[in-house]
Amino acid sequence: MTTSLFRRDLLKMAPLAGFGMVLGSSLPGGKSSAAVKNAFAGAYEGGTYHLPPLPYDYDALEPLYDERTLRIHHGKHHAAYVNGLNAALEQLQAARGKNDYTAIRALSRDLAFNGSGHVLHTLFWHSMSPNREEMPEGLAKAMTQSFGSVQNAQNQFTAATKAVMSNGWGALVYEPIADTLLILQVERHQDLAVWGATPLLVCDVWEHAYYLQHQNNRGAWVDNFMKLANWPLAAARLEQARATAGRQ
Ligand code: MN
Repeated sequence: MTTSLFRRDLLKMAPLAGFGMVLGSSLPGGKSSAAVKNAFAGAYEGGTYHLPPLPYDYDALEPLYDERTLRIHHGKHHAAYVNGLNAALEQLQAARGKNDYTAIRALSRDLAFNGSGHVLHTLFWHSMSPNREEMPEGLAKAMTQSFGSVQNAQNQFTAATKAVMSNGWGALVYEPIADTLLILQVERHQDLAVWGATPLLVCDVWEHAYYLQHQNNRGAWVDNFMKLANWPLAAARLEQARATAGRQ
């Protein structure tokens, strides 16, 4: 009885008081609960790539991202990229064993397509948070340096993502040579990337990502994604990438 009342109160509070944000910002050190050390945990184990579990329940992003789409997206689409990646690697190993590279062009394409699909989807689940996340100061500063302002960065990310040609992704990335942020329009999973750049936050705009909920209205999905955006994750990944590049 007590439990169900408590739960009902929380549900009532959530949309009004931003319960998640309060919870997140009250953690020690002011770090949000949504920043994760390794977004790729569980994506590779025991010699093969794996479908990692979602960092939240399937219905946790409702109503901004619906449970039905999320279940199919994670359980079917992402899983297919994992299987495709493992299959490409097995076939490449077999080709080496026979020294037979007649299928090398197709296998190399499969490797890039499925490998990039696995990387981007794994990061995509963490790019969204059930809580309304505040933008950490470090990321806001980097956005201002790179794009003029946080608003400019968000405007460009939104515009780029909505305007991806056919199936693809919007991606906020860190480019280590100039120590700067870039926003990329990725086609499929692997095209129009910049070598060496680290993806910080990615938004999937393949039709499978939104069609059940929004049909052809990709813009409505991208607007919802921006409300789910896990800025603390992007900030944590930026910090890691800058450290790796010897920038701090
Ligand atoms: Mn997808």
